[in-house]
Amino acid sequence: MNYAVAAPAVHTLTVAGRDERFPVNRIFCVGRNYAAHAREMGKDPDRDPPFYFMKPAQATVDAAQAVTIPYPPRTTDFHHEIELVLAIGRGGGDIDVGNALDHVYGYAVGLDMTRRDLQLEARDKGRPWEFGKSFATSAPIGAIHRAEDTGHPREAAITLTVNGEPRQSSDIAKLIWSVSECIAVLSQYETLEPGDLIMTGTPEGVNSVVRGDVLHGAIDGLGEITVTVAS
Ligand code: MN
Repeated sequence: MNYAVAAPAVHTLTVAGRDERFPVNRIFCVGRNYAAHAREMGKDPDRDPPFYFMKPAQATVDAAQAVTIPYPPRTTDFHHEIELVLAIGRGGGDIDVGNALDHVYGYAVGLDMTRRDLQLEARDKGRPWEFGKSFATSAPIGAIHRAEDTGHPREAAITLTVNGEPRQSSDIAKLIWSVSECIAVLSQYETLEPGDLIMTGTPEGVNSVVRGDVLHGAIDGLGEITVTVAS
């Protein structure tokens, strides 16, 4: 292929225990999927259909090993959101909720890093969330654990500490919209493709980090991530 400009790199993530890597296509993120987090953001949790926003593939950082990310520009309120991440292995549209798990390649621990000041300004002015959510290195993600190795987790502790202090602690059983429902609803709007990721939302306890902070996230059975904010 003779490209007019340099072709962008394929962004990839580690697959636990395997040599091959997972190529990242699109990143879909579910908003307000734990009731206590919806409340801390000043919203009523309810069963309105889930809503989604996106990050570019360039947002991904392979956090299978400890990594450092930069403190991003144009914010003074850089927040952590620890999340269960789904990796889609088989695409499809209008996926039946009963078959949705067949489309999952694996699961990982991830961070939806957020410029909260920019997100809330956009939200309150009715503007898009991109500057708050969709910037480079805003999605550190640990090794993907294949569903065929680990099964499909329905309950598991999800935690985040900053400099060893507890910040977020919940259970993925508290997702308002389950993994299957997140896939089925999204696929009604957009045909899913292999390589897509779905970040399923964060529990309560989101807060800011500063330069030099060390974030440690974990989901039982899916490993851990350690992410340092550059000083
Ligand atoms: Mn999030």
